[in-house]
Amino acid sequence: LVSGRDLHRSFGRTVALRGASLDVAAGEIVAVTGPSGSGKSTLLHCLAGVIAPDAGTVTYRDHRLSDLSTDARTRLRRREVGLVLQFGQLVPELTALENVALPLLLDKRGRAEAQAAALDRLERLGVAEVAGSRPTEMSGGQAQRVAIARALVTEPAVVFADEPTGALDTLAGEQALAALVGAVEENGCALVLVTHDNRVAAAAHREVELRDGATAAAEVRR
Ligand code: ATP
Ligand code: MG
Repeated sequence: LVSGRDLHRSFGRTVALRGASLDVAAGEIVAVTGPSGSGKSTLLHCLAGVIAPDAGTVTYRDHRLSDLSTDARTRLRRREVGLVLQFGQLVPELTALENVALPLLLDKRGRAEAQAAALDRLERLGVAEVAGSRPTEMSGGQAQRVAIARALVTEPAVVFADEPTGALDTLAGEQALAALVGAVEENGCALVLVTHDNRVAAAAHREVELRDGATAAAEVRR
């Protein structure tokens, strides 16, 4: 479904990726682990099309991201990719319902349809009671579930989650993660999950370890 090959990316003199590769099959749950600074977030951002690699290719089905026009890439991202970041990254001025409806409105769907789909997602993630609340009025766990609802509302083919439970305490983190995995399984989409938590990695079908910007040759399969 998504394939990153021999990805390189530097920030100034810091080399974040030096030849990282990762293939993600439809419906697969892959954990990306590795020490702090090993390039996990950079790999995720390259695969999600948020940043471009300096060298190497990212393909979605048969489309190379670098061959697409900016518009086509944006459309592909909006339709195929869901993103969940460490601190949720909800828009603070918007309610939960408005945050979740936003990706659909950006994709030019009608307001009524977007709101109905957003409410349905919030219900499925067990946070319909905060539909009218702004992010500052929710608990961390609730905000993270709203962020998960927003990532899934477009029914993407793949969800990228960067330490989605890193900011939460153990119980809230486990619940948010279970909600994410459950939603992904229900939708049949793929999930790439960055984590340093071994228990979180154990929820994946496969674990890929990054060391100094490169993917280790050996992968752990479950
Ligand atoms: P962590 O577990 O701490 O989140 P990570 O594995 O996600 O780490 P990355 O964020 O991918 O690591 O960073 C890899 C390297 O690239 C680090 O040395 C980091 O300082 C550097 N880096 C990442 N993003 C930037 C940026 N926008 N500007 C400058 N340097 C960056
Ligand atoms: Mg990171």
